[in-house]
Parts: sequence; C-alpha cells; structure tokens
Amino acid sequence: MMKTIGVIGGMSWESSAEYYRLMNQYAKARLGGHHNARCLMLTVDFAGIEALQREGAWDALGEQMAEAAAQLERGGAQIVLLATNTMHRVHASIEAAISTPFLHIADPTGAALKAAGVTRAGLLGTRYTMEQDFYLGRLRDRHGIETVVPGERDRTDVHRIIYDELCHGIVKADSRRVYQRVIEDLKARGAQAVILGCTEITLLIGADDSALPVFDTTALHARAAVDWALDSA
Ligand code: GLU
Repeated sequence: MMKTIGVIGGMSWESSAEYYRLMNQYAKARLGGHHNARCLMLTVDFAGIEALQREGAWDALGEQMAEAAAQLERGGAQIVLLATNTMHRVHASIEAAISTPFLHIADPTGAALKAAGVTRAGLLGTRYTMEQDFYLGRLRDRHGIETVVPGERDRTDVHRIIYDELCHGIVKADSRRVYQRVIEDLKARGAQAVILGCTEITLLIGADDSALPVFDTTALHARAAVDWALDSA
C-alpha cells in the first residue's frame, strides 16, 4: 500500500504547486493508469514567514515548522517534506516534533550529484541558503560535495529575483539571462553542475537554459518522496 506523503507547503505556493504536479506525475509514471501520489499538503502563510526570515528569527520559524509538521502527522502523513530549501535551516526542530521520517531536501540532491560523479557543484538559492552553513555543510559532510556560490553582487540578484519575482509567479526573460550568466561564472570557477537550491528556480531555469547540468531540488525531492512512499516497507 502506498504511504501518505505530508508536505509543508506555501513557501511559496508557486513551488508547492510544482511539488503537487511532480509527485502525481511521477507516481503515474511509475504505476501507470489513474494512479496518484497519496499526499497531504499544509500550506502555511508565507507573509509572516518571509518577514521572520529577514529578522533572522529562526527559533520562531522552527516552532512554526514543527507545529505544521505535527499537524501533518496527526492528519496521517507517514513521511514529512518541507517544500523549500531555505527553511531547512530549522530541520532539527521539525525532526524533534514528529516520529515519522523527515526527508531532508539536500539528501536526494546530494545522492543524485554523487551518482552523476559530481564533486564540485554550483549552488543557487536564497541568500540564507547560499551564505549559511546549514545547506552547503550538509552537502559537504554527508555527501562529499563541495559547493561554489556566486559572488556578493550575483547573490543579491539571485536572491532578489526569487523573492520579488518567482515567489509571485513572475518569470522574466531578463532574469533568466541573469541566472544564465551566473551559471556561466560558476562553470568558469570549476563547478561541474549547478544545484537549483531554491524550489522556485525550476520555474525560470530548465536543463536547456543552463551551461551546466542542472540538479533541480524540487524535482529530486518530489521524486524521492514518491519512491519512499512506494518502496518503504
Ligand atoms: N522556496 C525557496 C527555497 O527553496 C525560497 C522561499 C523560502 O524562503 O522558503 O529556498
């Protein structure tokens, strides 16, 4: 029997919609017919979350994420996913609040990079993800992947495009060109691949837009969840 996937969504909902589509498409690809992924999504209100991120109020955010995860668990989720890279900053609070497994987004990403023989990967994401250690440290310590992040000015642009455009569903050709240039720079600095380490970047950049092979955290996370729901005993 397929297990129930619980998704903490809404950060932003534009990317959660992608999770929903990808999980169902992949379940259908694996099982055929009219199969769906059995899933629950709890959409939090991103306005307050985004403000607390800017304040650096990670403890309060950890409490909110823990509460959301517990609510999903009470609703029958058998595995919990957090549909944003950035909020994995507080993954420990979530894991402490539930007894069901938590699928950390960096793990399927690290596994896919390793399987492809990548040891040095460019990382695009929010400023929090690119600058703090919670994400690139996990890739390094658990998966042996070294990350290359854009320089200060490029990080500012990458971050701004995420919050001001992609989280509102705005996809601009000019912004795609900015990301393409940043990816070319990461390649020149020795990156063998690029991690789309923010769940909205998939709206802007596909494999054909990038000078480097793309590792899309949204797709890898959604797919790993469905594999777990189908294959775990
Ligand atoms: N979805 C984004 C991420 O994957 C950014 C929005 C957020 O801050 O959660 O990091």
